Amino acid sequence: MKNCRVLITKQCNFDCSYCLMKDEATAATFIPIKFDEFVKIIQNYESFGITGGEPTICRYFLTKMLTTIRGCSDKPMFLYTNGTLVETIPEYALKCLSGINIGVHQGIDWEKVARLQAIVPVRLHIHKDSVTDEIRQKCLEIGATIKEFEYGQCDTVEEDRWFVD
Ligand code: SF4
Repeated sequence: MKNCRVLITKQCNFDCSYCLMKDEATAATFIPIKFDEFVKIIQNYESFGITGGEPTICRYFLTKMLTTIRGCSDKPMFLYTNGTLVETIPEYALKCLSGINIGVHQGIDWEKVARLQAIVPVRLHIHKDSVTDEIRQKCLEIGATIKEFEYGQCDTVEEDRWFVD
């Protein structure tokens, strides 16, 4: 069984210069598939990463995706988001997740992180040069965790990549 990364939109409400989705070769690694076809293969996977672009800008489709996957599989499922619109997603859909990964691009809304952490574990993705002792302490207090990253760095896990619409 493999990991599965699910792209649900290439669009985003941010425009980061370092966005991997601006690299056509990276975007092309996600193979287009219709939702109904994707549903048939959900049980082939041992974990799911739901990503974009910014997946929360498609809140109805994201809600449908999260609840459908959880209806077919009890495997770990994580959302990758910039966090700005994540509270527009219904709580019952967020509760389908094993964790939310929030990319920190423009500061941290700690009240929001605490509210989300009460629903599902939060991990902040922060550039390694931006992680401070204050951020570490705040995460400790809230119960959130940190993953440090470098620009242009990609996780090299074996996974199938689908662009589902
Ligand atoms: S927030 Fe993420 S997906 Fe959106 S432009 Fe920035 S790097 Fe790309």
